[in-house]
Amino acid sequence: MSKLASTPIKFVKAVGPARAEKFEKAGIKSVEDLLYYFPTKYIDRSAILSVREILRLVRNGYDGEVTVFGRVVEREIIRYGRKQIMKVLFLSDDEYFETIWFQGIKYFKEYFNEGEQYAISAKPVITRYGHLQFAHPDFDLLTQKESADFLNTGKIIPFYRISKEFKAAHLGIIGLRKIIKNAIEKFLDFVEETLPENILKSNNLLPITTALKNVHFPQSPKILKLALDRFKFEELFYIELLVALRKSKIKNQTRGISFKVYSKPIKEFLNSLPFELTQAQLKVLREIKLDMQSPKPMSRLLQGDVGSGKTIVATIAAIIAITNGYQAALMAPTEILADQHYRKIKALLDVLDIETTLLIGGQKRLHRQETLDFIEEGKAQLIIGTHALFEEKVIFRNLGLVIIDEQHRFGVLQRFTLIKKGISPDALIMTATPIPRTLTMTVYGDLDVSTIDALPPGRKPAVTLLRGESNLPKIFNFIREKISEGRQAFIVYPLVEESEKLELKAAEKYFEKLKETEFKNFNVGLIHGRLNWQEKEEIMLKFVKKEFDVLISTTVIEVGIDVPNATIMVINDAFRFGLSQLHQLRGRVGRGGEQSYCILITKDEYLKNYSRNKLDINYLSKKEKEKYKSFIRLKSMEDYSDGFKLAEIDLKLRGPGNIFGPEQSGFPSLRFANLAEDKAILISAKDAAFNLIKNDPFLSKQENSLIKKIITKKYSASLRFAEIG
Ligand code: ADP
Ligand code: MG
Repeated sequence: MSKLASTPIKFVKAVGPARAEKFEKAGIKSVEDLLYYFPTKYIDRSAILSVREILRLVRNGYDGEVTVFGRVVEREIIRYGRKQIMKVLFLSDDEYFETIWFQGIKYFKEYFNEGEQYAISAKPVITRYGHLQFAHPDFDLLTQKESADFLNTGKIIPFYRISKEFKAAHLGIIGLRKIIKNAIEKFLDFVEETLPENILKSNNLLPITTALKNVHFPQSPKILKLALDRFKFEELFYIELLVALRKSKIKNQTRGISFKVYSKPIKEFLNSLPFELTQAQLKVLREIKLDMQSPKPMSRLLQGDVGSGKTIVATIAAIIAITNGYQAALMAPTEILADQHYRKIKALLDVLDIETTLLIGGQKRLHRQETLDFIEEGKAQLIIGTHALFEEKVIFRNLGLVIIDEQHRFGVLQRFTLIKKGISPDALIMTATPIPRTLTMTVYGDLDVSTIDALPPGRKPAVTLLRGESNLPKIFNFIREKISEGRQAFIVYPLVEESEKLELKAAEKYFEKLKETEFKNFNVGLIHGRLNWQEKEEIMLKFVKKEFDVLISTTVIEVGIDVPNATIMVINDAFRFGLSQLHQLRGRVGRGGEQSYCILITKDEYLKNYSRNKLDINYLSKKEKEKYKSFIRLKSMEDYSDGFKLAEIDLKLRGPGNIFGPEQSGFPSLRFANLAEDKAILISAKDAAFNLIKNDPFLSKQENSLIKKIITKKYSASLRFAEIG
């Protein structure tokens, strides 16, 4: 397409220099840009109805668009003071209908001369005199010759976004359609194919010219779908090619460490645990062992729901690296979590005489320098920390394994920064927010995936209830009962986005109040984000030691804190939280053997306004999804305890771009495809891309020269990611 990319927009008929300027302002500089200015929606006007049929439809409550043919009988301009309206009366067979304009009359009065035949499309109304009327309809003049060729009515009609620049150029939807039509007529033959013949063929894709033409002016719904699918496929195919290139590079061109698996220390470690590993844990452990034994660097995503026991598995991977004489690093997203990991893993590793060290920001300077030396000298074997591990000053002696916990908080680039501190170390990335398959195939496509798909035995999923605020007294009563049975409770107040201060205030306010009223005979603690991590840690430890019965909290407890005796999680204003956040919060309870409860609180009115039964996300329109979003989230929490299921729902509600910010995650923003909806296309695009790279890892074959050219030109920015590995 490159020729058209450098053909200025002004060469399209009806554009001209003045309009060209506006087009350029709207980001459409070349003919190619215009051809890729796709419609935002389509309306099927292919059925042409009679006046009688339309009247019947409207009386039966139909409120969509219709198309009707008619001959102009009379045109009339009516003045009301300084305002004008224009009415045109049409005859369609032997019935009349009228059209009406309130604006743009200067322009429209050029049209609609008596006797001319038009196709009219719009939403019909019935006037109080019983006449069929269309206000500001779309229309096409029908001449004998043209009737097969009209743009605005009579078939599937494209609608484009009319930006303010277009409006400034006096360009409306009808004019823009005409301009795009002109561009297609004149330039379509110059459009160059962007996918190789064999890929088109084996994936049943339309050639680019057919696809472009039909995206703008579809001949049928079927071909429109094929046309759109082609562009979706193309987009995903090139992304997957980058992913495949990256993966092939990591796997084939870098030599990593080939670890030996010594079973004695592992056995010793396992024997010291008060439980046996689950089948699910053993399965992923086998996968990790194989990776570590192989000379190719491991890059594996270990996913498992909250509490599924990833830490133990990761610890065993660390033992393997360390007993081979290497260092292992574990990176957690927050200081408090790093510290928790540190304490827990240090205790776990007690049997093995492994030197475990903590490195986080905010440590005393002297101590910090000692730690750094310790790491550099190689005396520290397992180093647990936060992003402080990234810093330049941190020099590892021989880093052989990198473990990253809660991956989604770090993003692709940071991941590589740490990995680069070793010489092709193995990498194990753990995530507790299950990632839908569509994403593990894209963002995480270069990673192999292991999933712990079952919780340790004896865990009961939390009973989750959605309740109105008026139920709070009852809920507090319930909490008191449970406390007297020896349990503990979290009460979370939401993050007020604008300000941490406000959030703190809410939590503090309720803390003061609840302490004096509902829980005056109990011990109540408060934890919030403005405390430093040592202070937070202290409060958490007190909670673990049962010095508090109730812990009032902002969202700082979101990730990873383990208090098995806490069985109740109350989340206030629950509609403010995202789904994965709610699931993470719920994951704080149900860690012991007792039945646990997660109670989601929201305003009573909200609950009244929704009907629980009607909200199946698969059948909601975009608009409805938007409207009911927060309620769907809460209802899904009631219905499902499986994090994967919830992640799928979340993806459908939010779209992937929002789950992983593009810059942060390295996730490319998609123009045509939608990961929540286009799974099948994604899978075939992925297969095609991976096959191609398997057979031609350097894109050096002649048949792939087109791909190579496009990748280096169009995707050079993204290619950076391919090279990082
Ligand atoms: P994750 O990191 O996946 O959220 P953890 O590794 O922190 O989960 O494990 C959660 C809790 O379950 C810990 O207290 C851990 O000791 C315990 N646990 C892990 N594996 C098992 C198992 N196989 N059987 C029983 N308890 C287990
Ligand atoms: Mg964890």
